[in-house]
Parts: sequence; C-alpha cells; structure tokens
Amino acid sequence: MHVTPNLPIKRPFPLRDHLKKELRMPVFIQNDGNCAAFGEATWGAAKGARVAILLTLGTGIGSGVIIDGKIFDGAFGQAPELGHLPIDSRSKQMCGAGHHGCLESCISKEYIKKMVERRLGKRLPLLEVENMARAGNKKALALWQDVGGYLGLAIGSLLNIFNPEVVIIGGGISPAFDLFEEAIKKEAAKLSFPSMLKQMRLVKAHLGNEAGKLGAARLVFENIKH
Ligand SMILES: [Zn+2]
Repeated sequence: MHVTPNLPIKRPFPLRDHLKKELRMPVFIQNDGNCAAFGEATWGAAKGARVAILLTLGTGIGSGVIIDGKIFDGAFGQAPELGHLPIDSRSKQMCGAGHHGCLESCISKEYIKKMVERRLGKRLPLLEVENMARAGNKKALALWQDVGGYLGLAIGSLLNIFNPEVVIIGGGISPAFDLFEEAIKKEAAKLSFPSMLKQMRLVKAHLGNEAGKLGAARLVFENIKH
C-alpha cells in the first residue's frame, strides 16, 4: 500500500501481511477501481475489449485501465489515477489528495452535491436531480451536462493516450448516464482525433457494485498457486 487519500490511514501499514496472519490464507491486494475495470472487462460492459477504461464516481473518482485484457497498474502498482487528471487549473476546489483543479476536485460526489445546492437552491439526492432533469427542469439538465463536460475533458485526453475500445462510466452518477453522454462526446471531441472518438464505445457500467468483487475474485483465481 502506498497512498490512501480517502481512507483514514495516515502511516504506511503492512495490510497484506496483517491480513495474511489474521486470516491464514493467501491475500492479494489490488485497487478497487482496477478490480472493477477487470470485472467489467471479464463479464460486463467491456467484455472482450483489448483496451478499456473505467471511471467510477464514489467518494473520490476511481479508475481502471485494461490493456490486452490485463490490469495496467504502472511500474510500481499505483496507476492509474485518472480522477486526478487536470481539468481546471483556476479551480480553488481541492480533491482528497490535495490537488486543485483535477477531475475529482470538480465532480466528486461531494462537489456535485455542492453544485446542486448552489444551482438548485438546496441539497437534493442525485436521483432527485436526475428525475428533475428527465421531467424537463433546465437547471437540473444543465447540471448533468456540465458533469458530462468535465468528464469529456478527461476522456478527450484519455482517448489521445490509450485509443480505447470502451470507456465505462460507473458509480453514483451512472443512472443518469444518458443525460450527459452527448456532453461527454462533445467535449472530448474538442481534444481528441475524430477517428479515436468514433472508435470508442462510451457505455454505462453493467455490473454496478459487483464489478469490483468479481474482478477481485478473478485476480485471486489467476494468482493463486494450485
Ligand atoms: Zn486530485
């Protein structure tokens, strides 16, 4: 384990060794976003894709990249951190890791809730904001499109780097996916090559909260010594 900005663990802690000792069984550690991407790439929205990217909105913005059917986690196991791609350098909002202007600092769940309060006058559950937009409320619809715009900025850069077959949107905002799908594409188009945008399938996560567990299970079966 290296850094866990959204968990209350401040010092390096040998989690794997600790769990191994307590549970007396093999223990593997992998990032939840990576596991969710692996689950979606095995049984879900990105099944069969050679290169797939997952962005999932929770407390922070989790992410996972699958390359050639395998989890890409960098040279030292800390990648990818796509929620921290720079989006708005003038933003004063800060993410859990202390950056100003990264994707997470613009549209983490908490910041979307603040956006709702500021624009709609009160704190509302995201489901209600979704229903309002579907009923034709212009402010609610504009809010979802702005969320899509921020995602589109990040996805435009990701297209240039990875040229993915599939980009999956998961987590708390995915039920409203159809309300901001076009806004993502519109913004991503400003930053990427038209052919890359055309080749990408932009989809909602299929496996919901099960994706991480399923991906983690596959990892164990692949790594365990029989
Ligand atoms: Zn950040």
